[in-house]
Amino acid sequence: MLPSEPELQLLFARLNYQYFNGEVPDCRIRYNERFSNSAGRISYGRTPLIVELSPKHFRKYPEALEETMLHEMVHAWCYARFRDTGHGARFKKKLRECGITSIYHELGNVRPLNESSKRYLLRCDHCAFEVLRKKRPGKPTSCARCNKRRFDPRYPLTIYEIVEMREVGSTVEGRAAHGSR
Ligand SMILES: [Zn+2]
Ligand SMILES: [Zn+2]
Repeated sequence: MLPSEPELQLLFARLNYQYFNGEVPDCRIRYNERFSNSAGRISYGRTPLIVELSPKHFRKYPEALEETMLHEMVHAWCYARFRDTGHGARFKKKLRECGITSIYHELGNVRPLNESSKRYLLRCDHCAFEVLRKKRPGKPTSCARCNKRRFDPRYPLTIYEIVEMREVGSTVEGRAAHGSR
């Protein structure tokens, strides 16, 4: 059985203590049932950062969960320290310190969809409504679910930039294991 979201949050805290001296910034860990083609995703831009995991994927590959979590945590750590969002030298060095030797994972055989062209996640902190956008909205937007009729500053949509989309299936060595940057 999959850990609950509060249990994921505890796992995050434990790994943060164990491998990072508690230096990983605050992250909200949650499942996203809509992920059918990605194992995990991290979105930057606001605190807490958002780490989303695919329940579909980890029901099938429960043993991959901790490693995927660590991978996303290394991203959060690199971002907090260096504003580095890539899979470069700093990322790999820290990942090795966490006992992971490859950035490539066995993520199954599902063909990746083209979800990665959407770079921005707009989220209402009031009702958790979310929508993906290709472009950063030019003006403030508010939640269409909390107030259908007009712009309402009480329900702002927070903009998160999606820097990584871990695609299920792109596991061939030598190819990028992830989607958008
Ligand atoms: Zn809302
Ligand atoms: Zn990554």
